[in-house]
Order: sequence, then structure tokens, then C-alpha cells
Amino acid sequence: MDFIVPMATQALLPVTGGNAVFPVRRVYCVGQNYASHVAEIGGDSRQPPFFFSKPPDALVPGGGKIAYPPRTSNLQHEVELVVALLDGGADIPVEQALARVFGYAVGIDLTRRDLQSQAKEKGRPWEMSKAFDQSGPIGTLTPATQCGHLTAGCVWLTVNGDTRQDDDIGQMIWNVAEVIANLSTYVTLAAGDLIFTGTPSGVSTVTRGDLIECGIDGVGCLTIELV
Ligand code: MN
Repeated sequence: MDFIVPMATQALLPVTGGNAVFPVRRVYCVGQNYASHVAEIGGDSRQPPFFFSKPPDALVPGGGKIAYPPRTSNLQHEVELVVALLDGGADIPVEQALARVFGYAVGIDLTRRDLQSQAKEKGRPWEMSKAFDQSGPIGTLTPATQCGHLTAGCVWLTVNGDTRQDDDIGQMIWNVAEVIANLSTYVTLAAGDLIFTGTPSGVSTVTRGDLIECGIDGVGCLTIELV
């Protein structure tokens, strides 16, 4: 077969402890899943979860240097627990959801907040604020067989050594199983899917030269530098 253009590169995530890699299919994200973050951005924490997506090629496995993106003067970090699925399905019952999880990673949902605010105001799509190039730095995947299914644990992020986000994943409004179950009522989930599960409070503006470090207890750490 002759390809008219080269076939796009498959996004791959390294897995802790060995040479195995996790091929990524789709990347879903949950909006406003911690009461503390909902409060800081003026949302309503009694609402059911809602979702958006990033393209898999926006992931930056392992972090490192990330180019400050164009068309924004308010780039913000959102540290999040990321869930990687071993298996999927539609209408997955909550009690069967965790059996679909391969493992967990720490990720940053980079957001062009100024573009997102404009989109919200005008009722327009979020893609250009959330799904831009290099908008999804992500750390190494830790298999659930190693770290267990996490119900609590510190989630933190620092900028140039100053703590900006410091919370506990036990504070999620919708837990991992509920997120998977709810998302699977909208789309058929499948092996290789990732879900960014939302960020706690403390999101803040970052700029060129900033060093951003983050982590989740039991999952791992991630470092990026904006250049
Ligand atoms: Mn987010």
C-alpha cells in the first residue's frame, strides 16, 4: 500500500518497571471534578460530570521541555490523575468499572484559560483552549497491579518550587469508577483510552521559563519546563 502522506505516529506511554508501552487510543478529560476547583472558577459542584477530549498526539509522554503555546496570554496548569483503560465497553456498571483499569499516571491538562473563558462566554467549543499541541504532558503509567486502585493520596503541583496545587484525589466529586461508568453512557470506551479525571484548586498562570513539577502519591511524578 502506498501512503499519500506518512502514517501518523501512534502515541505510546511508558509503563513503570519494564520495557512495555501502552498505546493510546482516545484521550478524554473530566471538567470540574473537585469542589475546591469548581468554587475557584465559579461552577456548580452538584452537576453530573461533563467531558471533553484532547487528541492523542497532544500528549507529551515523560514531560520535559514544552513550547509556550501561541494565541494565549494566560496559560494555566491543571494537575490530574490519569486513568488508562485495559478494556472498555458501553454502559459499564460502576461496580465493574475498576476491572477495566490498567493503571494510573499523573498528567497536566494545560489550558489556554483566556480562550476557554471566551468560549464559555460565547457558548463555543473548548478545543482551541484545551486540545492544542503539547497540551497533555503525562508521566509514566503505573499498573494497578502495582499501586492498587487509588481512593486517596496527595496530588500536588509546584511552579519554580512554590506550591500551587495541593489536595487529595479522595476529594474528587465523581470517583474513578463513577467517571468511567458515566463516560461509557456517552461513548463506547476501549482498550487504550485515557481519562484525565479533573483538577483540584490552585490553577494558576505560568509563563516561559517556568519549571512545573507535580505528582500523585503512589503514582509518580512529572516535570515540565516551558520554553
Ligand atoms: Mn482539567
